[in-house]
Amino acid sequence: MELLKQKIIHEGIVLNNNVLKVDSFLNHQIDPKLMFEIGKCFADLYREAGVTKILTIESSGIAPAVMTALHLDTPVVFARKKKSLTLQTDLYTEVVNSFTKKETSEVSVSQKFLSSEDHILIIDDFLANGDAALAMVHIAEQAHATIAGIGIVIEKSFQPGFDKLKNLGLRIDSLARIASLDNGQVFFS
Ligand code: 5GP
Repeated sequence: MELLKQKIIHEGIVLNNNVLKVDSFLNHQIDPKLMFEIGKCFADLYREAGVTKILTIESSGIAPAVMTALHLDTPVVFARKKKSLTLQTDLYTEVVNSFTKKETSEVSVSQKFLSSEDHILIIDDFLANGDAALAMVHIAEQAHATIAGIGIVIEKSFQPGFDKLKNLGLRIDSLARIASLDNGQVFFS
């Protein structure tokens, strides 16, 4: 997606060989027009796929997921990282290792929002080692739902996530694929 690539080139900050900071439009401040176009792109890719629900993880997956859902006319469910008074029982729960925070947390989705009837499109902001996406795959499996595919805004193709998911036979669509962040520069695949 050219618009996204231009945004990454002009506003992305390469923190090191493994991490790209895009907090001016995706991870902290959000560019709603860009999110709208990202949502349209995912929706165009999955329009014929019979998607009934979008699944993401809080927090940075929510903006692209909501925009995709808007274009596909489906609800969005986001896996929550903290249990609360309103989220305690009848949950699908998975452990996920955070790539950026270097910590392990549990994510949960209420059983009332995913079922075996659902055909799920998983959306996330980044794909690195694949742990976040895999946690969502496992949550979908717990619900006996089917998975239409995985939509990723920024894939770092030099990290193992893509191959892990592909080896499970899943469809993956990434809007920007980064081949390397070496020497402080973004190289697209
Ligand atoms: P994974 O679980 O695939 O290793 O990492 C995916 C999650 O880690 C994403 O949801 C995203 O929040 C975060 N992440 C991974 N790589 C990057 C990165 O280069 N930059 C930023 N800002 N977040 C990342």
